[in-house]
Amino acid sequence: MTIFQHLMHGALPASFVHQDDCCVAFMDINPMSPGHVLVVPRQAVVTLAELDAATRAHLLDVAVRIGQAQQHALGSLAQHVLVNDGKAASQTVPHVHIHVIPRYRGDVLKALSHVLWHVATLPWQRAVSDEKRQRLDAQAVRIAAALAAAMP
Ligand code: 5GP
Repeated sequence: MTIFQHLMHGALPASFVHQDDCCVAFMDINPMSPGHVLVVPRQAVVTLAELDAATRAHLLDVAVRIGQAQQHALGSLAQHVLVNDGKAASQTVPHVHIHVIPRYRGDVLKALSHVLWHVATLPWQRAVSDEKRQRLDAQAVRIAAALAAAMP
């Protein structure tokens, strides 16, 4: 089982912003910027190519809607929508996922330091203090509310 399957099944804690039959989305434990979300298919495959086209399209749709929800909820201006599509492309969790990483006004230096911190701390990234979990939960609630408000 991948770590993301453990999160989906509730065996490990996660701050969810979205769940449906096909995928889940939750706060990244080691965010590159405040509000960083991962969109993960329930099907545990490594790369996008192993998913069927409908699932790929659905994941992208959810990622786009989460980007808009981050903008409404957190005041971000835009977002990186990123896939490390396999181990040789720096994928560290072998379960395909889309990163939705919000960008904020004037955050260039901050974003760069977050990327460096993110890479440097990857081996320890699962240690989450109560304070950090509360922060992730609070962001997840705000993003989930913006998502729900935008539902057709
Ligand atoms: P990758 O490098 O595979 O594209 O990204 C994996 C992402 O998963 C990283 O950004 C990392 O912080 C995140 N991650 C790894 N383990 C956990 C975890 O247990 N919980 C959460 N919420 N995110 C995780």
